[in-house]
Amino acid sequence: RPRSLSLLGLGAMGTALARTWLAAGHRVTVWNRTPARAEPLRALGATVAGSAAEAVAANDLVVLCLLDDASVGETLAGAQLAGRDLVNLTTSTPADARAWAARAAGRGARFLDGGIMAVPPMIGVPEAGGYVFYSGSAELFAAHEEILAVPAEARYVGEDAGLAALHDVALLSAMSGMFAGITHAFALVREADVDLGSFSGLLADWLVAMARVAVTGEQKAEKGEDQGDVASNLAMQVAGNVTLLRTAEQQGVSAELLTPYMELMERAVAEGHGDSDGSVLAELLTAH
Ligand code: NDP
Repeated sequence: RPRSLSLLGLGAMGTALARTWLAAGHRVTVWNRTPARAEPLRALGATVAGSAAEAVAANDLVVLCLLDDASVGETLAGAQLAGRDLVNLTTSTPADARAWAARAAGRGARFLDGGIMAVPPMIGVPEAGGYVFYSGSAELFAAHEEILAVPAEARYVGEDAGLAALHDVALLSAMSGMFAGITHAFALVREADVDLGSFSGLLADWLVAMARVAVTGEQKAEKGEDQGDVASNLAMQVAGNVTLLRTAEQQGVSAELLTPYMELMERAVAEGHGDSDGSVLAELLTAH
């Protein structure tokens, strides 16, 4: 059944969200700092609010998808939040999300933070596999889950408002390391006589296979489970790093994306973890 909501922020992501809610027959009130970006949505049936405060006043459910935490603060500064259900899809840190949960409660609103694991073309396309992590008010999530799940699958991860951001940023941080590796790999082969089409396929398959090996090892280590025989111990990997570095040098490629992780492996070996596998490294990073 059609529901109503307000959406503040019509960048690439906000516009994609608005389009899917409108296409699903919901009533959407939109607001954007630069008003021109709302016009294409007006043509699709959205109501355009004249100010952020007006958009917040228009509906119980208020979704924000702005650039960063500061823009959320500026946007909500003059708004009356009492009785609202605020959902902040702006990418934030766990502490930002918890601070908003506290501020919202202080201003009489329920709060849910969201972390979008999709790019705009994946919004409204379930088979693309995108989803959104949510955390914060369980009552708010239960009340609005159906409409929140229209743009992408909704995955609630807990009452602590910071948990969605923590999941989001953990996945993005892992992606950052993967992108570094892919960048280095392409730098190695780009000037060589290598078929880049088949190389791309080999690389993607290898990363998927190794990701499964690595996360299984991490999970066992965190649970304190027996790892069995260590298949790839750190002493062997550190010795192997020399080959990676020499190859980079021979191909004329800077090793700057590889060395931080290699240095952590070396530190682990120096501290007596040569017989362990890479799953010991997270512990070293968090040793305070
Ligand atoms: P865009 O850069 O396309 O849009 C940014 C939006 O924020 C615009 O609506 C802009 O308004 C608004 N804005 C910026 N500063 C202010 C301010 N001070 N006050 C009010 N409004 C402001 O970003 P996206 O739409 O791509 O991203 C929005 C959020 O979604 C971000 O937190 C991003 O991390 C997250 N996200 C984006 C993904 C993507 O691939 N695009 C993927 C996953 C998450 P104006 O038009 O006036 O400039």
